[in-house]
Amino acid sequence: MKLVVLGTNNPGKVREIRTILAGLGLCLKTPAELGIRATVRETGRTFEENAVLKALSYAVLAGRPAIADDSGLEVLGLGGAPGVHAARYAGEDATDRDRIEKLLQELADRGTGDRRAVFRCVAALATPDGRVWTRTGELWGEIAPEPRGEGGFGYDPVFLVPELGRTLAELSAEEKNALSHRGRAFRALAGLLAQLLGRGELENDC
Ligand code: IMP
Repeated sequence: MKLVVLGTNNPGKVREIRTILAGLGLCLKTPAELGIRATVRETGRTFEENAVLKALSYAVLAGRPAIADDSGLEVLGLGGAPGVHAARYAGEDATDRDRIEKLLQELADRGTGDRRAVFRCVAALATPDGRVWTRTGELWGEIAPEPRGEGGFGYDPVFLVPELGRTLAELSAEEKNALSHRGRAFRALAGLLAQLLGRGELENDC
């Protein structure tokens, strides 16, 4: 089995990425599981910059290949907010519930009828010697009037998938992964990982 660092300590992302990449037979370890305490500051201005920053930083810290994602929600009626700052939208110590409340309040304050929204994800793979690859995924939907559902994480309870009439938090984990921004980005990255493993370019036993 090949070891690849799963460069995030966000439990929602860890769960989803492990499931999406399950078929590759990789040994995925989070920084915490490898005893890496350092956190990577997301100083980039784009999802791409931050995904690369995280993957490369963890690859160098661990001396092993690493994958990471940067993702967020853009709401058209809010000029693209929360955007790349989705995790810190309501301040550093805010909870998912605080962020959802702030989002719904801002939409109400603006009185905008445009509730279209897109989740974006950039998945990055990096090696300790500085090679980097990225793949992207997106999912379009609408912001629901109020939170619904218990599944997923983050903004899932207010992200309505119009074709299904359900929020992401009302879908099973498999249903969400099949259509989500993260599912799309990491399935594309899985194809690349399989090629690199097949060519022996990620020699790195667990
Ligand atoms: P980052 O990628 O760690 O900068 O944070 C992304 C933030 O965007 C998360 O903490 C969530 O608030 C939000 N987010 C990203 N992907 C999802 C998702 O699949 N569902 C719900 N919220 C998400």
